[in-house]
Amino acid sequence: MKPKKIVIIGSGFGGLSVGCLLAARGHQVEIFEKRDQPGGRAYTYTFNQFTFDGGPSVITGPNLLEKIFKAAGKKPSDYFQLVPVNPFYRIFNSEGVFFDYSNNIPQMQAQVAQLSPGDAAGFKKLMEALTAIPSKKPGELPAPQTRMLDLFKNAPALIKLGNEPDLYEFVSQFIQDEFLKHALSFHPLLIGSNPFNTHPELLMNMKMELETGVFYPIGGTKSIIAGMVKLFNELKGKIHLNTEVDQIITQRGRATGVRLKDQSIVQADLIISNADTVHTYQSLIAPALQKKNRNQRFKNMEYSFSLFVIYFGTKRRYTDTNLAHHNIILNAPYKKLIEDIFYRKRLSPNSFLYLHMPTLTDATIAPEGSESFYVMSPVPNLQSKLDWTQISRSYRDQILDYLEEHFLPDIKANIVVEHHLTPLHFDQTLNSYLGAAYGAQNIPQQSNWFRPHNQSEDIRNLYFVGAGTQPGAGLPAVLYSALFVDQLINK
Ligand SMILES: Cc1cc2nc3c(=O)[nH]c(=O)nc-3n(C[C@H](O)[C@H](O)[C@H](O)COP(=O)(O)OP(=O)(O)OC[C@H]3O[C@@H](n4cnc5c(N)ncnc54)[C@H](O)[C@@H]3O)c2cc1C
Repeated sequence: MKPKKIVIIGSGFGGLSVGCLLAARGHQVEIFEKRDQPGGRAYTYTFNQFTFDGGPSVITGPNLLEKIFKAAGKKPSDYFQLVPVNPFYRIFNSEGVFFDYSNNIPQMQAQVAQLSPGDAAGFKKLMEALTAIPSKKPGELPAPQTRMLDLFKNAPALIKLGNEPDLYEFVSQFIQDEFLKHALSFHPLLIGSNPFNTHPELLMNMKMELETGVFYPIGGTKSIIAGMVKLFNELKGKIHLNTEVDQIITQRGRATGVRLKDQSIVQADLIISNADTVHTYQSLIAPALQKKNRNQRFKNMEYSFSLFVIYFGTKRRYTDTNLAHHNIILNAPYKKLIEDIFYRKRLSPNSFLYLHMPTLTDATIAPEGSESFYVMSPVPNLQSKLDWTQISRSYRDQILDYLEEHFLPDIKANIVVEHHLTPLHFDQTLNSYLGAAYGAQNIPQQSNWFRPHNQSEDIRNLYFVGAGTQPGAGLPAVLYSALFVDQLINK
């Protein structure tokens, strides 16, 4: 194919990955990023000598990172170092009892036998059911679903998963203990979906994690972003930071370039948007061109929750606690509290917390004798009308009081640097519709062919990469979306 001039809007994992893939094929690629740093949700906050991963910290799908670097004849290990994290997650209940989730199945089975002896056999069956889901063969890549017929591509895996309506019910066939049911079905919450309303298909993510592991990049996720930026520059790609795209310019239904906020125009043969899908259609494209992807379509969709995130550095270490690198805290009445966030759009501060303690694996990201944490709490998206300019402080206090009482003694007196994100960050800084932290929920009616397509049906030389398009949110899915767009452009 003749080299094309390609403009990418946004430098999240999706934008950078597809940028590398296309630059490696000899295309002339430029990325325009609104913020002052590349990475999007994988932004890095640095205060004094503390480094905080802004977003993704559970790194899965290393084989996909390898695919992207291999397209340029490189290896990820030439650019950053991934180390395995074990356990993958330490999952706590309200009483502080924990379950270590990892790919050490006998060890997990022994814990199940101790926590709920009657569930040991069921746990074995659950693991067998996971193994029965067909795996992708090495090197095999799923394809984007552009035709309704493509829905049948997932049929073999779906048949193996049976008729259970949701992931929680699927796990409940095998497990009786309520805490273990929750611990073995929480995964959708890490990508903005509801375990009580998500198709068991998402078990495929758990299966992938069990097969390929969970990793941490030394130095933090910023090392992967820096590695991708380095590769992109070596491939002669250009990144423009602090440069927001204001409009996608079209002529006779085809995109011809973008207009930037400063009104300058950049011509292109094709455009890829890594910005939020709804933002792209609603704010960057003239209404007359929104034929298949109208406002009403997006209004009818269901969006993920938003997040309240506290990044905090302490002047002492907390290695004398029973915390692990990735901690999941589930509090009763868990189901009701999760439904408060999704359906009743009510705050539910400590129902589900993810507490990241990376200094256990990598002490270089904080000053000596210090700890660098982040805690993430799902909150209703902006459909709730909560006024975050008013409630942030008290919400922060509720979470830190809880952590102080149960996990981190005297934490408030030991914090030396602190920063918060609220839903307003996702809405205003990242241009995400309703401040949803993970875009549209991965529910059946918004997955596969039903999810916004990677190639626009309205403007054929406009493509989409990232969490809002197929296959969905989370790092592995976003990397797949980049491989999808590369396939579509170069087929
Ligand atoms: C707090 C948090 C924790 C997470 N933890 C994990 C985890 O542990 N593991 C995991 O796999 N996933 C995790 N995720 C999900 C994962 O981070 C995202 O799914 C993924 O990073 C999204 O990448 P993306 O390519 O879709 O784009 P984004 O990261 O959303 O980037 C889009 C970029 O587009 C830019 N942009 C928007 N509009 C414009 C415009 N008009 N002009 C120019 N630029 C524009 C934005 O500034 C942004 O940089 C987490 C998410 C969050 C928020």
